[in-house]
Amino acid sequence: MTQGHSARPPRTGCGTLRAGDAGRTVRLDGWVHRRRDFGGLVFVTVRDRTGIVQVVFDPGAGELHARAGRLRPETVVEIVGEVTARTPENVNPDMPTGEIEVRAASLEVLAECDDLPLQPAGQQVPGEEQRLRWRYLDLRRERMQRNLAFRSRAVATVREVLTGLGFWDVETPILTRSTPEGARDYLVPSRVHRGAFYALPQSPQLFKQLLMVAGVERYYQIARCFRDEDLRADRQPEFTQVDLEMSFVEPDDVMDVVEQVMVALARLAGWDGVAGPFRRMSWTEAMDRYGVDRPDLRFGMEIADVTDAVRDAGFRVFDGAIAEGGVVRGFALPGGAAATRRQLDAWNARARELGAGGLLWIKRGADGPSGPPVKALGAERAAALAETLGAGEGDAALLVAGPLALARAVLGALRLEIAREQGLVDTARHEFCWITAFPLFEWDEQEGRWFACHHPFTSPEPADLDLLETDPGAVRARAYDIVLDGVEIGGGSIRIHRPDVQQRVFAALGIGPDEARARFGFLLDALRFGAPPHGGIALGLDRIVALLVGEESIRDVIAFPKTTSATCLLTDAPSPVDEAQLAELGLRLRRD
Ligand code: ASP
Repeated sequence: MTQGHSARPPRTGCGTLRAGDAGRTVRLDGWVHRRRDFGGLVFVTVRDRTGIVQVVFDPGAGELHARAGRLRPETVVEIVGEVTARTPENVNPDMPTGEIEVRAASLEVLAECDDLPLQPAGQQVPGEEQRLRWRYLDLRRERMQRNLAFRSRAVATVREVLTGLGFWDVETPILTRSTPEGARDYLVPSRVHRGAFYALPQSPQLFKQLLMVAGVERYYQIARCFRDEDLRADRQPEFTQVDLEMSFVEPDDVMDVVEQVMVALARLAGWDGVAGPFRRMSWTEAMDRYGVDRPDLRFGMEIADVTDAVRDAGFRVFDGAIAEGGVVRGFALPGGAAATRRQLDAWNARARELGAGGLLWIKRGADGPSGPPVKALGAERAAALAETLGAGEGDAALLVAGPLALARAVLGALRLEIAREQGLVDTARHEFCWITAFPLFEWDEQEGRWFACHHPFTSPEPADLDLLETDPGAVRARAYDIVLDGVEIGGGSIRIHRPDVQQRVFAALGIGPDEARARFGFLLDALRFGAPPHGGIALGLDRIVALLVGEESIRDVIAFPKTTSATCLLTDAPSPVDEAQLAELGLRLRRD
């Protein structure tokens, strides 16, 4: 310790003090959490990022006591005092430091605090706008401190696992060219090259592929990505991915690495029993059994097809759908025989809102099956049908008839919504799974053309290569998504590493050779110079951390997030710029 400071003890974390520290003289630096005046004593809880501790000022301390009595919440203080054990009746079991308190010997105010727009020590969660406007105060709240600390440890864990597996952390440019990931680009005008623009990366996709051509073999990056999408709840215009890429690999190799990362993160969160390999399911199987490509496996209620079982039953709704080439599908709702008319009406209305003709049900009550299709089917056939879907006595079968894609989508949504509403999701459990064999392309009705489901650099299944020109919709992708508790937390693929295949995929997407050269010439060139087979994945770090700490919104695990309309309430970005700045960039605003 330097001379002149000998009287000042070293700083101790407020939240670290325990009974064993009694008798020590400590120095606390932190914020006034709360102040209470009680029986002539002044009690001040002092907070730093390690937690809170109670400090006592007794009246015998005179001026010190008087100053403590004037302390306002969130004032920054330095207190030196002696740690003393609390008397048994004063022990507070709800506080980690509740066995002790600090008897103040000195108090110094390091910074005053004005009237607060938001109370960091308050019990209530302040409104979202307030929280974002006064984010530094919001971040003082215990829950936010916990989230920031956890996120930091999560990133350290990811780095540790990947470094241990031989990955190199390589940074890629932020000022770059457009990378198609299905969103609009954020553009940055160039001052030096008037009329030319950089794009902020939607992902480091092309650079990580180039790093494989460069012989890096195993790359990762905690990468910021930028996507200008229309307002969607809980999306951020900039977000963080754990981005990785590997050479000479099959999907299994990438999945194995990701499983190691996720198992380590689950352990960090204290989730028991998470172990690889995770369950795998093809896209078709997921769509058929769960109606979505990100199934929540924490509960049953699996969807099954009963088209054949109801064929020719003489029930108008079924017959009509089947005659038009559609399907009849459904799932069992445990305890559903007790569903009220109102509930059934509400679910029916929801099914219609989702585009179905309606929702049909067969209840299996004690006195036999009931519900709209029972008369036409007959009691025996109706009961057997419900049984096929897994509905025993006391349950109900919920059914939708219509075109395949619609039936999947409606049942997938209802399965989830009803399970949540009925409390059938076991939230104490956590289920990871992989979805594989996605279609390579999807048809966009509005634009009348094919789009890449993942991105245009994803490899088709070699067995489907010949379909690229003849039947693009049937080509499967060597792509995989990882899903946790019904949430897609990452996606990746084996990439195309042959220029001829890349050209054919571009062609299927309506990108002709000239456009391909103009937009991706650097990639096509690289593929000519010994590109190794490679593949990778990107994991959504914000979402993963939110799930691990049990937050609903990713905004709660990002220090300075933007609103759903992409503004920063704290700094007021985006903001207008002055004419001179525009002129320098060669830009003029259109007034129309
Ligand atoms: N670049 C992709 C994405 O951002 C992930 C990948 O294919 O590795 O979704």
